[in-house]
Order: sequence, then C-alpha cells, then structure tokens
Amino acid sequence: MAYSYEAPVSQSLFDRASVVTPGGVNSPVRAFRAVGGTPRFMVSGTGPYLTDADGREYVDLVCSWGPMILGHSHPEVIAAVQEAVSRGTSFGTPGEGEVALAEEIVARIEPVEQVRLVSSGTEATMSAIRLARGFTGRAKVVKFAGCYHGHVDALLAAAGSGLATFGLPDTPGVTGATAGDTVVLPYNDLDAVRAAFAAHPGEIACVITEASPGNMGVVPPADGFNAGLKELCAADGALYISDEVMTGFRTSRAGWYGIDGVRPDLMTFGKVMGGGFPAAAFGGRADVMAHLAPAGPVYQAGTLSGNPVATAAGLAQLRLLDDAAYAKIDAVSAELRSLVGDAFTKEGVAHTVSSASNMFSVFFTDQPVRNYDDAKKQEAFRFTAFFHSMLEQGVYLPPSAFESWFVSTAHDERAIERIAAALPAAARAASEATA
Ligand code: PLP
Repeated sequence: MAYSYEAPVSQSLFDRASVVTPGGVNSPVRAFRAVGGTPRFMVSGTGPYLTDADGREYVDLVCSWGPMILGHSHPEVIAAVQEAVSRGTSFGTPGEGEVALAEEIVARIEPVEQVRLVSSGTEATMSAIRLARGFTGRAKVVKFAGCYHGHVDALLAAAGSGLATFGLPDTPGVTGATAGDTVVLPYNDLDAVRAAFAAHPGEIACVITEASPGNMGVVPPADGFNAGLKELCAADGALYISDEVMTGFRTSRAGWYGIDGVRPDLMTFGKVMGGGFPAAAFGGRADVMAHLAPAGPVYQAGTLSGNPVATAAGLAQLRLLDDAAYAKIDAVSAELRSLVGDAFTKEGVAHTVSSASNMFSVFFTDQPVRNYDDAKKQEAFRFTAFFHSMLEQGVYLPPSAFESWFVSTAHDERAIERIAAALPAAARAASEATA
C-alpha cells in the first residue's frame, strides 16, 4: 500500500539506513513492517510532541515505548543530565548516583531488598534467570506465550499453548538446547502452570511473567493469577520473577506490585527508571541477591552498569514521579480510552479498549482477550488503516496492533484535543478497512 503523505526526508534517511543497517533500523518494530509505509525519523521531542525530519509534529502516544513518562525534554531531567555530563560520562568505578538510584528503587518497592543495575531490560531478565537457576540449582524456566522479556535466548521461545510444551526456538540462532529448558504456557491459565509443576517436580527454577502484560497488547492478569503463580512457585521451591520492565514506576509509584501486592522473589525493571537513557535493574530477596558476584558465585557484570549520566536521568525522573504525577497520567489515560472507545462505537467497529492502570491498547474484537491466542484473533488489518489515518493527522501510535499505548504527565488538553480531532476519521478508516 502506498501512502500519499509519506515523508521525503524520512524516506531518504531510511534508504541510507537500509544500506548500512539490517532493515534500516536498530530495533525491528521501528521499521513499520506490521503497518507498512515509511518509518518516521524523529529529530526532537518536547512535552507530548515529537518532530520528524520533514518538520511535521506528532502527538506522541509511544513515549519511547514507555520511558518518557514526563514527556520529552523535561527541564529537570535535562538539567540533571547536563550536570552529570559536565563531570564526565563514565568512570568504571562505583559512584554516588548509582547508590541513590538503588536506594530510590528499594524505598519504592518493598519486595526489593537489594538491586543490581544493568543497561537494558534484556540484561535484567537474562541476569534474573541466571540468578534463579544458580540459586535453585534447577534448569527449567516457565514463561507465558505473548509475554516478551527482551531478546534473551532462552526466552525467545513461544511454542504455543499446551501443557508443559517445551519451547521451540522462535528465531534462528537460538538452539534447541537453549530453548529446551523453557516451558511455554498459555497466559492466565493457572491449571497449565499446576500441570507443569506436576510434570517437572523440583526441576523448575523460576516462573517469569510480565507483571501485567503489555507486549501482546494490554492483557491484564485475571484476578488471582499472579497470586496463584506465587503460591505454586513457593510450594515447589521455584522463584517467582515479576518482569516490571514495562509496568515498573509507570502503573503506580511501586509499579504493578503497588497494585496487586503479590510479593515476587525477583523483579526486573527498565524503561521509566532510565529517564530515556540505558538503565535497568533486577532485584528482590536479599538471600537470593547474595548469590550474585562478588558477594556470591553467580557471575554478572557490565562496563556501563550504573552509568553516571543514565543514573542521574533516572533518578531525576523518579523523584518527579509523585502521587500527583500518577493521578495526572491515570486521568489522561482514562480520558483517551473513553475518546477512543466512543469513536469506534460511533463507527460500529467491533473493539475492546483493554487497560491495566494507565497502560492501554485497542483490540479489534468484541470478544474477551485473556491470552495471546485471543489477541491474535482480532482484525489487525483495521489497526493498519487506523494507524495511518492517525499518523497522517499528526498522532504517533505504536506501529503494531500488539503494543501498549503510553501517555505522560505532559499530555495536556491541547494534545488530547488534537487526538480527539483525529479519531473520527481514523475510526472511519478502521471501519472501512478490508482484510
Ligand atoms: N521486559 C519487558 C516486559 C519489556 O516490555 C521489554 C521491552 O520492551 C523488555 C523486557 C526488554 O527491555 P529492553 O528493550 O530494554 O532490552
């Protein structure tokens, strides 16, 4: 499909990028392959707006896939970064900034007694799994289809639903041996988890789950699901790992833990805690964390871990995220959800606006979506038409029907009005779309 409003400068940058970078991007979903068209090359961001290389401004509903919870170029975050940069960019030694960031995380999230800083969410989940295996002396890892935990080899397995299905690698380059210890189960299905523990007693090191999934679209845990996971893990001596890379410091002060109160053994964080820089973390029970090098035998390290500029940005951002900030983000999200739902209803488009705290996404179905199989049954072709109409009208959505939308404290009435003005035509485009 050709799009008449395509941006010539972005197109020429994409052409150049495609020569020197596989697919023209440094992270696949940025390439717009799910929706077609030319990815926008952004040059600047201010508050809720992004400006692309052709000089067009967009209301941003991606927020860098979550991190920019205060909007772009927040003056206090920028000032903290500038102050940190003026003292140097990396020392390869401990520094006070990383202590302060760790203290902030431990103070906010009660189950986190100790925390180790890393540079990406992928590193956080990879390290948490290694630690769980080292701590328990067990090999198997349970994950759920549709949950994304970064591009960790052992977690790039989603062999479909089914009782104790052994993961087949989802991508070439991940060996059967690596994925073979991964058990992939349908999300929100405690019976499947019970059966997996029954089939592999004493062999499962951990169950890892997104605290509230946002990577198959937003599919919140059913009542009691996380608590059930925790109970089944505890009964078998496995660790319960809650991946809060997306939900952490976003869905509440204490992330999803602040909402459901289910106490994980280990947790992973990223996105918001880096303030737009590469900073992430994993943490939890002190007796488990004590197994990490140099305190214990499980090796884990990083040249740029606890980087002074990244920790300064993250700390500045977290310190601004008080109760009033979360109330604002929740209110913006509620207003948008209602505007979006009304627009589709008016056009007779079957849809479900699915939310978990202030994270939300739209499924083009009126059937309940409780897991990845349900999510895949939606009429995703309608999203493509909707996405391009919104983009043309200056609203930047995630370029896939299976991603959460993100808002920030900077989304003010003007930004919301621009989204509201774009919705009727976009909902019409969705209603007229054909597969
Ligand atoms: N875990 C979850 C829940 C995520 O959403 C992501 C990224 O989107 C990751 C882990 C991986 O984080 P990163 O992209 O920083 O490696």
